[in-house]
Amino acid sequence: MKLKDIGEFGFIERIRPDCIIRPEHIVKAIGDDAAVFKTESDRCMLLTTDMLVERVHFIRKATSPFNLGRKSMAVNLSDIAAMGGNASDAFVNIAVPDTVDLDFLEEVYRGIKHSAAEFAINILGGDTTGSRKDLVINVAVIGYVAADEVLLRSGAKIGDVLFSTGYLGNSRAGLHLLQNASEGDGFEELVQAHCLPRPHLNEGRFLATQPQVHAAIDVSDGLSSDLGHIIRESAAGARIYADRLPISDQLKTFCSRFGYDPIQYALAGGEDYTLLCTVDPRHAEAIAADFRQQFGRPLFELGEITDSGRIEWVDAAGGIHPIEPTGWNHFKA
Ligand SMILES: [Mg+2]
Repeated sequence: MKLKDIGEFGFIERIRPDCIIRPEHIVKAIGDDAAVFKTESDRCMLLTTDMLVERVHFIRKATSPFNLGRKSMAVNLSDIAAMGGNASDAFVNIAVPDTVDLDFLEEVYRGIKHSAAEFAINILGGDTTGSRKDLVINVAVIGYVAADEVLLRSGAKIGDVLFSTGYLGNSRAGLHLLQNASEGDGFEELVQAHCLPRPHLNEGRFLATQPQVHAAIDVSDGLSSDLGHIIRESAAGARIYADRLPISDQLKTFCSRFGYDPIQYALAGGEDYTLLCTVDPRHAEAIAADFRQQFGRPLFELGEITDSGRIEWVDAAGGIHPIEPTGWNHFKA
C-alpha cells in the first residue's frame, strides 16, 4: 500500500495514536490548524509548520522567488490566524539542490522577511541542507492566544451560521491563469490571490475576541475539504447555499469566459487562505455588522451547521445535493 491509497488525512489518522505521552499541558495536538499548549501564563502557545515542495506546491520557473518566500510564510501565518492567535516568531528550514542560484535563494529570504516584517515576526533560525533535485521550504511559526480565546475546529454547534472572511475560488482560478500564461490579462485579482495570499491574522483576532464565534479553520485545501474538518472534529454536518457563496466579480467573468462553473471553483478551489468560522445564530448578524465596520468588507454568510453528519449544498432552485470533500489532496490529486 502507498500513501496515495489512503491520502494525507487517512495517513494522519493512522499516525495520530500514541503521539501524546504527557497530555497535561496539551490543549490540541494533531487535528487542527496549529498545536495549542498551555504555558505558565494564561496564554496558550501555538505552533504550526508547513512545507512547500517544488513540483508539488510550486513550479520553480513559474514562480518569482520573492513571492515564493512570501507565500511560504503566509501559509503558516494563516494557520495561526485560524486559531485566533497573534504570530510571534518563525523558523525556516530549506533543502536546496545544486540547480538553485544564490540570487534566487536570497530573493526567497527577502520574501520571507518581507512577510515576517509585515506582521512583526522574528525569524529565529532554521536548518539549511542540500537536496538531490527539488527545492523544499519548510516554515514553522509560533504564536500566542489567550486560553479562553482559542478557536478550534471542534467547537461548531448545530444551528451555527457559517461565514467566510473573504472570496473563495480566486486562487484556483489564478493558478489556472498562470498555467496558461496567455490568459492572465484583466484578472490581476485572481493571479494575486494565488501568488500572494494574505493571511487573515487581523480577522482571526477579531473572531477570537467574540465569544459567540465557536469554530474556525483556514481555507487551504478548499471549502468542501476544510469544512469537512470542522464537521468531523465537531461531530456535525453543514449546509451551504450556492447563491450565497462569496464569488468575486473577476471569478464570475473568468468562469463565463472560459466555460467553468464558479460554484465548483468556490466549493473545491484551494489556497484562498480566508477563514471559515461558525457563529451562534443569535449573534451572527451583529458580528457580521461589526466585522464590516472594522474591515470595510463583508463577512460572507454561506450556510449553517447541521446534524446531518455530511456537507450538502443547496442549488438556486432549492435542490439539496450531498458533496464529498473534493478539495486538494496532495496524494490523491
Ligand atoms: Mg489550516
